[in-house]
Amino acid sequence: MALKMPAPDAAVLARREEIIAALRRLVPGEAVISEPAALRPYECDGLTAYRQPPMVVVLAESTEQVSAVLRWCHGQGVKVVPRGSGTSLSGGALPLADAVLLGLARLNRILEINYDDRLAVVQPGVTNLAITQAVEARGYYYAPDPSSQIICSIGGNVAENSGGVHCLKYGLTTNNVLGVELVLMDGQIVRLGGRQLDPAGLDLLGIVVGSEGLLGVVTEVIVRILPKPETARAALIGFPSLETAGQCVADVIAAGIIPAGMEMMDQKAVHAAEAFVHVGYPLQVAALLIVEVDGPEAECSELIEKIASIASTNGAVTLRVAADEAERQAFWAGRKAAFPAVSRLSPDYYCMDGTIPRRRLPDVLRRIEQLAIHHGLGVANVFHAGDGNLHPLILYDANQPGQLERAEAFGSDILRVCVEVGGVLTGEHGVGVEKRDLMPEMFSEIDLAQQQRLKCAFDPELLLNPGKVFPVLRRCAELARMHIHQGEVRFPDVPRF
Ligand SMILES: Cc1cc2nc3c(=O)[nH]c(=O)nc-3n(C[C@H](O)[C@H](O)[C@H](O)COP(=O)(O)OP(=O)(O)OC[C@H]3O[C@@H](n4cnc5c(N)ncnc54)[C@H](O)[C@@H]3O)c2cc1C
Repeated sequence: MALKMPAPDAAVLARREEIIAALRRLVPGEAVISEPAALRPYECDGLTAYRQPPMVVVLAESTEQVSAVLRWCHGQGVKVVPRGSGTSLSGGALPLADAVLLGLARLNRILEINYDDRLAVVQPGVTNLAITQAVEARGYYYAPDPSSQIICSIGGNVAENSGGVHCLKYGLTTNNVLGVELVLMDGQIVRLGGRQLDPAGLDLLGIVVGSEGLLGVVTEVIVRILPKPETARAALIGFPSLETAGQCVADVIAAGIIPAGMEMMDQKAVHAAEAFVHVGYPLQVAALLIVEVDGPEAECSELIEKIASIASTNGAVTLRVAADEAERQAFWAGRKAAFPAVSRLSPDYYCMDGTIPRRRLPDVLRRIEQLAIHHGLGVANVFHAGDGNLHPLILYDANQPGQLERAEAFGSDILRVCVEVGGVLTGEHGVGVEKRDLMPEMFSEIDLAQQQRLKCAFDPELLLNPGKVFPVLRRCAELARMHIHQGEVRFPDVPRF
């Protein structure tokens, strides 16, 4: 592993058997996994280039068990890495050699569905799609729809603030979660948020959503459920260049239209998706947009017409509006299968995730092409165009010496370009270990220290998911230290108690 992780604590490793025995007393049955072969499935998440078997896995089945495990580990100075379904693409659930991997997948019950209040209360191991499946018969759904939705857990979605194609209009996880139950590293169980938007007090829920398992373990989530729109219409629009497609995206938004989804694929991704799902994508175009609008029928028809006119002004060469629901689903099937489809182009691919201002799309795509030549690797581009969220898929072969390193260097260069044009290092996949060392490209020392102080407020011993997100994990005492120079008190105007 090229990536530097915190050195395993030899004293903790020496106590492995004792730790396993104690965990078995807290979580009886077969929930504690310690055999080396049985630990293998947990050695990585979706960022498969990095692997590390955990010291031990505990599969908790209740909030009380999560609390007991965390309290015991806190008392013993043992680190804990939370894990949902293990689909993180940034290595957020990568285990540590001296840490307990705390699996939440068995906490998989839907506890309450309340149509009057339009919410569902679910345990963290419930998959994203299972929420929609539980309410769709009554005409409702859960809006954020990551492509991994059949498997990723809602707890993981909260930790990563996950998004999906419909987040352009309906917001990310953070806009669709009303409250959580959170277990702190010392075992305390707290509730943040509530059963309606914007409850009183500091917005601690806003801090926890997207905190990548660094602040606490989510054991219950209250999500908003929305009535399904009356109609959804999708259009497939082909362009002769990425620039014209990018301009069309910018013009649609500038016209005051917020589509339910607006996704773009470049020619390589279009060809791969078409060969995979055979849905009739036009193969001659350089860029393909899928634009979906939803709402009342009359509104959808009007918006589709407006979008078609904007596309034509931007030189669109093909335009197909889905005639029925089956065709609309087919348009999306290609996009949703784009990742596995691209995996047939080369033995391995590396999915990057950065966000840029929409108007910089053509410029950034040109830079990515130049970087591909510089690094000698292919790239296919799939992105949430409406959000400016890029997913370049870098093609490489891990069995060829040096190619993984080149793919990583290429990925880092793409993220540097994102930051340079006023964007950010992440879109929806989190920082994890993947982007950890690039954080200083975007944040100053002061920014990072402030962010870490927040971590210290929740987990002062830095036992929860260490080695992720922060490039340098300073001891909390170090961050709190106030330097006194020659008896002079810093910030004398600040009241002291
Ligand atoms: C093919 C594919 C497509 C994808 N498409 C998308 C996409 O469209 N949009 C998107 O946003 N992401 C996407 N992802 C990334 C991934 O699915 C999401 O980040 C997802 O939210 C991770 O959920 P998980 O349950 O797998 O979490 P894990 O991978 O198990 O964990 C992710 C992080 O959350 C923490 N965590 C997990 N559960 C908890 C909990 N209960 N409490 C506290 N911390 C916790 C972990 O410590 C880790 O830091 C995709 C991944 C794949 C493999």
